[in-house]
Amino acid sequence: MVDTRTQYHRIKSEVDQAVLDVLESSAFIQGQPVKQLAAELAAYLNVSHVIPCANGTDALQIAMMALDLRPGDEVITPSFTYIATTEVIALLRLTPVFVEVDPQTFCMDPESLRKAITPRTKAIVPVHLYGHAAPMEPILQIAKEHGLYVIEDNAQAIGCDYRFSDGRIAKTGTLGDIGCTSFYPSKNLGAFGDGGAIFTKDATLAEKLKMIANHGQRTRYYHEIVGCNSRLDSIQAAILRIKLKHLDDYNQSRRNVASHYDRVFSGYPKITTPHQAPYSSHVFHQYTLKLATGVDRDGLVKFLSERNIPSMIYYPVPGHRQAMFAEFGTAGVNMPLTDVLTNCVISLPIHTEMDTEQLDYITDAVLKYLS
Ligand SMILES: *Cc1c(COP(=O)(O)O)cnc(C)c1O
Repeated sequence: MVDTRTQYHRIKSEVDQAVLDVLESSAFIQGQPVKQLAAELAAYLNVSHVIPCANGTDALQIAMMALDLRPGDEVITPSFTYIATTEVIALLRLTPVFVEVDPQTFCMDPESLRKAITPRTKAIVPVHLYGHAAPMEPILQIAKEHGLYVIEDNAQAIGCDYRFSDGRIAKTGTLGDIGCTSFYPSKNLGAFGDGGAIFTKDATLAEKLKMIANHGQRTRYYHEIVGCNSRLDSIQAAILRIKLKHLDDYNQSRRNVASHYDRVFSGYPKITTPHQAPYSSHVFHQYTLKLATGVDRDGLVKFLSERNIPSMIYYPVPGHRQAMFAEFGTAGVNMPLTDVLTNCVISLPIHTEMDTEQLDYITDAVLKYLS
């Protein structure tokens, strides 16, 4: 699905030197590269504060801890997402409330969101799934009407642009109260290990997020609030600084792969290629097809696998049907759109190092299976 080795080899000498520099400095934790990366990311995203942390899941957890939510408060999130988005809600003893996504964009449906709001709702967590922005303008409007916080899960969409109806353009992850991202190696901006970051425009919130990520302390050994230990290490930051310079090119390579797939697959009624809404750019963390009813998806996965072509189902079980949420009784919730999507999506390989030969090999196999 990814080729992080080839990507590494293109920038090997620079990366190797940066890692050696960290080893020599021996400032493995809270070293200079971490501060530099935070500043460079803030400039890239045009956001005032970036707080690096240990991974994307922690970023979401720290974001929710900073908002003074109380046990039983409801947090609305799509069911059609990676488990990290929803798991932290339950971990903090908050109540996850699942809503539908738009089957075209795979992102939160604002009407479904509106219907899910109760007096106990405190926050909304939209996910920019597969690299496409959630419809933030209506979501922010609904949040404003009801006085709700918005935490963006931007783990799959770093570099994605959102266009407001007045023409203003801003990066996803900087639109709500807090944005969260992951530097997991296969993400669009991937480290060589775990990593994550939190974004906010609010100085007070930034201070609190920073404290929570560091044992609730502002001054060493004076712990004002309960926090955790979640840091990005200097080696990962040094590598990410180099990769950040290439992020726009990386995302363009992904778009080129997607265009190739789109061209070849267009006109085949058994497959629907990814949709791009006018308000969003697309950074194609995943290239996800929808198969028409009647197409045997397991058969396709097997057919491709026999030809050494990986494919993945993101995600085989939606949040509302996960056993971990049994206590919330969500499995009984009627979510027909999410259930249909769960059964018809399939993601094909997409990354920065694909060539035409590989793409033709994959598309030939897919079309052969469908014919
Ligand atoms: C990867 C991912 C996360 C979690 O990131 P980790 O760094 O793996 O903890 C959260 N949400 C989404 C949508 C993701 O894809």
